Amino acid sequence: MSDRLSWIQDELNTLKGQGLFTTIRTLASPQGAWLEVDGRQVLNFCSNNYLGLANHPRLKDAAQRAIQSHGVGPGAVRTIAGTMDLHLELESRLAAFKGVEAAISFQSGFNANLAVIPALVDKEDVIFSDELNHASIIDGCRLSRARIVRYRHNNPDDLRRVVQETRAQGYRRALLVTDGVFSMDGDIAPLGQLALVAEEHNLMLMVDDAHGEGVLGRGGRGIVDHYGLHGRVDIEVGTMSKAFGVVGGYVAGRQPVADWLRQRGRPFLFSSAVTPADVAACIAAVDLLEESTAMVDRLWENGRYFKAGMKRLGFDTGVSETPITPVILGEAPLAQQFSKRLFQEGVFATAIGFPTVPRGKARIRVMISAAHTNHDLDQALGVFEKVGQELAVI
Ligand SMILES: *Cc1c(COP(=O)(O)O)cnc(C)c1O
Repeated sequence: MSDRLSWIQDELNTLKGQGLFTTIRTLASPQGAWLEVDGRQVLNFCSNNYLGLANHPRLKDAAQRAIQSHGVGPGAVRTIAGTMDLHLELESRLAAFKGVEAAISFQSGFNANLAVIPALVDKEDVIFSDELNHASIIDGCRLSRARIVRYRHNNPDDLRRVVQETRAQGYRRALLVTDGVFSMDGDIAPLGQLALVAEEHNLMLMVDDAHGEGVLGRGGRGIVDHYGLHGRVDIEVGTMSKAFGVVGGYVAGRQPVADWLRQRGRPFLFSSAVTPADVAACIAAVDLLEESTAMVDRLWENGRYFKAGMKRLGFDTGVSETPITPVILGEAPLAQQFSKRLFQEGVFATAIGFPTVPRGKARIRVMISAAHTNHDLDQALGVFEKVGQELAVI
């Protein structure tokens, strides 16, 4: 390696020394309750495949049929090569599912945030952003060049305070943005109270519902439905890569928002859309969610069951209000050691440390899915108990 790049190896070594170096497991199976890793079957508690749709026969069948009818690639960006009917169908299905006028799809939830935030605000504007918002929101905010004012996590009083301060200094437009469900802790944004602040101060209100759709609300319709806030939230961002089990992102809301993003959303204008197979699988996922709430109900039952078991064992599962179950351990090396021992015992659950969570709050994040059986959950609880005692956590 040339000397010019030797700093990279130094940085990597530092990460390893701090227990912050991420190693990535190789899977030889689809996503599901069980995975094949290094020739072994392990119980999976890592994925956001909340409803078990990532390997669902209806989605796979829809994807295969779309390849036959529409091929494998979109050709170019939609504004130049034209848009496939499938993408438009997905957009209108998502809008109906969310109970809004329109939706526009993107390659990912990350891209949806990079598209919508810079399309809404610019240099003369201001963004009020929860201090724990997802990285893609933060990057979207930075790309917009608007002034970014952070408020304390899930704290409408602190939001009011910073809005009043900032208003005194003057700005053109203002956007209030929050995650719906915060994925590291599983807590839910107080969206009703945020909507009141937005109404008091004329702020555009945006929620990123990546971990809420397919989870919260009637049949998984998301956070706006969960709180009954239809018509009071201007922009909802979503992803197709979590509960929907596929890949892609979208922005849902009023018709002019979708129209504006077709003109000014840079990831829409300058990057090709996801493939016909992806889109068809997403439509099949929406079909399944509209047909029955059984998968969503099962997810919540599993979440409650696992959390209660972990609490009985004496683990600190934080403030989660959703099936996301953080197991807070403290320092990053302990969390890594814990995760390694779990894996040796057949349970795949990743350690998460700084900068994804604050220093001293390293954890194992257990992602519960509707795909887990009671037997799977009992087995995992047994392994957590064994490793927790061994490492003197409980
Ligand atoms: C996962 C996530 C994203 C990114 O979604 P992708 O479709 O995987 O790019 C965006 N926002 C939030 C809040 C997320 O949790």
